[in-house]
Amino acid sequence: MPTDILQLPLQQFKGVGPKVFEKLNAMGLRTIEDMLFHFPLRYQDKTRLTAIGELREGMDAVVRGTIRASGIARGRRPTLIVKVDDGTGLTTLRFFHFRRAQALQLKVGEIITLFGQPRLVGGQPEFAHPEYQVGERETELEDALTPVYPTTEGMGQSTLRNLARQALTYLAQNPPDDLLQGRLKDAPSMAEAIALLHQPPASVNTQTILEGRHPAQLRLASEELIAHQISMLSRRARTLQLQSARAAEGGKIAKAIIDTLPFSLTGAQTQVCSEIVEDLKKPTPMLRLLQGDVGSGKTLVAAISAAHMVEAGHQVALMAPTELLSEQHFRGFNQWFEPLGVKVLWLTGQIKGKARREALAAVEEGEVDIVVGTHALFQDHVTFASLGLVLVDEQHRFGVNQRLSLTRRGKNDITPHQLTMTATPIPRTLSMVAYADLDCSVIDELPPGRKPITTVLIDTARRQQVIDRVGAACREGRQAYWVCALIEESDALQANAAEIAAAQLSEVLTDLKVGLLHGRLSADEKAEMMAAFAANRIDILVATTVIEVGVDVPNASMMIIENAERFGLAQLHQLRGRVGRGAIESHCLLMYQSPLSQTAKQRLAVMRESQDGFVIAEKDLSIRGPGEVLGTRQTGLSSFRVARLPEHEALLETAQTVAEELVRDDPKRAEQIESRWTRAREAFAHV
Ligand code: ADP
Ligand code: MG
Repeated sequence: MPTDILQLPLQQFKGVGPKVFEKLNAMGLRTIEDMLFHFPLRYQDKTRLTAIGELREGMDAVVRGTIRASGIARGRRPTLIVKVDDGTGLTTLRFFHFRRAQALQLKVGEIITLFGQPRLVGGQPEFAHPEYQVGERETELEDALTPVYPTTEGMGQSTLRNLARQALTYLAQNPPDDLLQGRLKDAPSMAEAIALLHQPPASVNTQTILEGRHPAQLRLASEELIAHQISMLSRRARTLQLQSARAAEGGKIAKAIIDTLPFSLTGAQTQVCSEIVEDLKKPTPMLRLLQGDVGSGKTLVAAISAAHMVEAGHQVALMAPTELLSEQHFRGFNQWFEPLGVKVLWLTGQIKGKARREALAAVEEGEVDIVVGTHALFQDHVTFASLGLVLVDEQHRFGVNQRLSLTRRGKNDITPHQLTMTATPIPRTLSMVAYADLDCSVIDELPPGRKPITTVLIDTARRQQVIDRVGAACREGRQAYWVCALIEESDALQANAAEIAAAQLSEVLTDLKVGLLHGRLSADEKAEMMAAFAANRIDILVATTVIEVGVDVPNASMMIIENAERFGLAQLHQLRGRVGRGAIESHCLLMYQSPLSQTAKQRLAVMRESQDGFVIAEKDLSIRGPGEVLGTRQTGLSSFRVARLPEHEALLETAQTVAEELVRDDPKRAEQIESRWTRAREAFAHV
């Protein structure tokens, strides 16, 4: 806002001592502007009196009447009971906790004004612990609805209301410029919109506010989305100022790799590779998202991209979401590249001390061509001789913010190209927001010869049958994954569930080898277990969701998932994608705990009926709604102050157009809008 007044710290305000200020800080509220953007969760209606005779269950009601009776009911716990009469009826107030002074104050004959939400007990309205005021004086009814703010312990509503009131006064005196200059039709001004949301007149339908559909919210959300689009556009524009490493014409290494493959690339892989290579030849960095279903062969595309960079004499970094996956990638890449004289390094967390220093020195000296690791690679201070390309696998695990930190890492002035890969289909509108600064490539074809996976749903009550069936299959030389999960994210609890299942399986299937893989094992132990499974020294691998992404063991043909109803469909699809990679027919057994809700039934049925990640995502979307499927949390957009997705999806198209116009016609104004809102966002991100 032009007015730096709104940037003044809240300490300016009456009633904000050091203690309160500290609490406010902890809530992310530092400036007047922060307070203005701290919107109520809901509202109370204290604008009018309600007659006792007209009280309805659960409504907000201010009631005024005379106390007709007051006394303490002695029971296990004494209760203060007060009867109030306003000429239209009688209502009962109950206080389960009360002070003596209170009991004395609430005397027969006193006038009382109270606020609360009545319950109807046997047709009679009752209030438990209402707010109240005793005395003759004219009760002040509110002009506007009373806001209820998000708060933390020790910070009362009255303090927040008081601060918001003062902030609104500042706002009215210093209204922010209309930076959009009428580009939004019939919209209230920013100051009006903010004021309305803090103090809506009694006539406003609060339901529309709660649902995010009020014109004041649409006004603010529009500007926020415009600001976001501007920031995406300017990030893109900044990228175009940067210099990248250019891939050479040629592609000898890539060709050599392709020649050694026992299969040929799918049409989609070839197409995507050429899109990427085109970008890699440009003098400015690529920012590209590669979407492709589980098993569509994204790793190979990554390797071919890497080959082009390495050939041009630059380095490549490949980041995986887990150590396990980074090891698998290392093995794959090493197999492809080593025979061609390309040096691949696995920079695992296990390499420590002197060995690590030596490894890092080799990267810095350019003795290593490709570095594989987890994203910790980039939290570390790894310096590259000349980093040309960064490959990020399974992007959805990282979130948007993570990719921002991927900038120059080389000793030279080169900014690496960036390719992020994901198997999670992203609804278009959400990708318009979350990935607006990226180009997109899609692998929309699976390698030929994949046998469909037969999926069945089985009640947990029939667990023994499942165990028998898995045992029989393994005796025929097959291998199985057995996935356990709990709602809790805790590694410890998950590990525990898997341990129990593994113990039980090995007790019953004495002739088979049962392995166990969970998040509490060390990276070495995990890698060892995975290697044993890949080498068919283990028949059944009991695991937690650590195996969810990317693991590739073609001989495994059975996937058993316990408590399948607790997983998201995208996750189930990822898990199921671990099988069906070899020549044998594969099976996926989804066990569920009865009874299933209607929605859960529908969702699991989708898994049985489809094997196409995009179809599954669409169905999931229509059953659960996009917010759940790809919540704003995963996309790193939770820091929006007003805009909500998918509720404000409809505003996106316009936001995009307006942002483009502004950046083109009035870059200075565009920058102002961006900074107005990013400032608000940054402050919010501290919460
Ligand atoms: P994802 O896209 O899920 O990361 P991967 O890259 O792990 O998939 O590939 C899955 C499996 O498919 C691997 O075993 C890989 O070798 C194999 N694969 C990749 N491309 C092809 C292809 N064109 N033809 C046959 N198999 C392929
Ligand atoms: Mg993969």
